[in-house]
Amino acid sequence: MVLAVTHSLISAFYVFLVKKGFNLRFINNNHLFVAAVAGILPDLDIIIRCFNNLLNLNLPEILGHRGLFHTPFFALLFLIPGIILLFTKKREYSTYLFIIAWGIILHICLDYLTSGGIHKGIMWFFPIDNTIYSGILGEKDWIVGFTMDIDAILLILWLFWLVKKEKIKEFF
Ligand SMILES: [Zn+2]
Repeated sequence: MVLAVTHSLISAFYVFLVKKGFNLRFINNNHLFVAAVAGILPDLDIIIRCFNNLLNLNLPEILGHRGLFHTPFFALLFLIPGIILLFTKKREYSTYLFIIAWGIILHICLDYLTSGGIHKGIMWFFPIDNTIYSGILGEKDWIVGFTMDIDAILLILWLFWLVKKEKIKEFF
């Protein structure tokens, strides 16, 4: 089970690396922020589940955790409009949509690695096929501890980077 900070920072860091690697100057801090948010977007289903339980909404199971929002189909809902916008005068918005689709796919891949047990796998071929595929590593006790450690280490490294770049002041 990969946790929120890891999902967010890896998504934003990858977009940062692509920007640097390909010298894409049009990618700015807003894009990195969107990448960070998109990295945890599939876990929106946790909030939906909370509301569902709290308000007794009886929402369909597909809207539960690791349901629709954890499928490549959800990423397509952003990717396809992004491709369409690419051929219009509003093509600058397509970058945001591509980044969101990227963040979702990365999130699903990371969840897939550690899925199993109470954390279901991924429906890679939804809506064509609802088969749930469990991950390569599975849900083991050491993995749960390891992913928590990774989350804490990444958060500390990010805070260290903010302090080193003297950007921490911008938060206060
Ligand atoms: Zn998830």
